[in-house]
Amino acid sequence: MKVPAGRLDRAYEAHREEFETAALRVLRSGWYVMGEELASFERQYADYIGTKSCVGLGNGLDALWIAFKALGIGAGDEVIVQSNAFIACVMGVTINGATPVFVEPNEYFLLDPAGIEDQITSRTKAILVVHLYGQAADMGAVMDIAKRHGLLVVEDCAQSHDATWNGVRTGSFGDIGCFSFYPSKNLGGFGDGGAVTLNDPALNEKVRTIRNYGSQKRYYNEMVGTNSRLDEIQAALLAVRLQYMDEITQERRTLAENYRNGIINPAIALPAVCPGAGHVWHQFVIRSKKRDALKAYLAEKEIGTIIHYPIPPHLSQAYDYLNIPKGALPVAERMADEVLSLPLYGGMTNSEQQYVIDALNGFHG
Ligand SMILES: *Cc1c(COP(=O)(O)O)cnc(C)c1O
Repeated sequence: MKVPAGRLDRAYEAHREEFETAALRVLRSGWYVMGEELASFERQYADYIGTKSCVGLGNGLDALWIAFKALGIGAGDEVIVQSNAFIACVMGVTINGATPVFVEPNEYFLLDPAGIEDQITSRTKAILVVHLYGQAADMGAVMDIAKRHGLLVVEDCAQSHDATWNGVRTGSFGDIGCFSFYPSKNLGGFGDGGAVTLNDPALNEKVRTIRNYGSQKRYYNEMVGTNSRLDEIQAALLAVRLQYMDEITQERRTLAENYRNGIINPAIALPAVCPGAGHVWHQFVIRSKKRDALKAYLAEKEIGTIIHYPIPPHLSQAYDYLNIPKGALPVAERMADEVLSLPLYGGMTNSEQQYVIDALNGFHG
């Protein structure tokens, strides 16, 4: 049996008619960018997350750097971020000229609040919280620290649509929540897409201005902005998928539970769930000291897996200039050597999953 690391066709087929009806409606409307579909999706998504506003953008990386730009964070400023983040999280900080300051993750793969205060300096402006793999970080602790030190909080929710901390959705705690709707995300579109969620009306206007060449009124440009818009087709398709978010999350939780109950192998550590976190399992990430052998063994059985992520940001070539040596962030470095994401996708069948579980349980390394 062949089980790929991920697949998107089945989730499309599950609601094919509605997707096709929505796409055709936009094609026939004669209006393709910055119209009613976007305005309607923005209202729905803000309501869903529980913020006053949502602004649709071109992708998740844009959501991050535009968020920091709108918050006035740039050269000379420091932003605290976890050391095992995805590279785009860090780029969201550095595109504006700000400096990332890394804090090691806890056993949940998330920013460890206990490590934050040691890293705060007079230049620290914000904390970037990444709800990695679909699990919410401890937002109670993070917001407490931010409040005490007068720091802004940006949430990277690219992997955490519908994830909650103490029952409240991620993207509603900090000053800005940043989302990606890349096709493989839990709320995925059919191309690139992103958004920010926020409450402050002035910040909302600022993000809207930045995404549209720095202008609110056509051809009157108050600042140097960019072009980053969620187009009408994506907005219409995302609105269809948003209606099924409960179903999407529930299916992923069931699949994750099957893995958690089914995988029994001393060479494999299962992911831990933090009390208070409503996990949405964007990735099901196991750890193994024999990770590379395990990945090769699974590949031989035609089971696809992905390493999220093989190189921590501070060791990637892009960030040579930060001059952080190997060994400086040992927790993240060890994770990069041990993590492996198992297949988990909408429409995954029981027999596919059992095949993966049996293979894992038969691994001796
Ligand atoms: C996918 C992702 C991004 C970037 O989103 P794009 O839409 O691909 O630009 C940022 N942060 C995290 C945690 C992601 O998973």
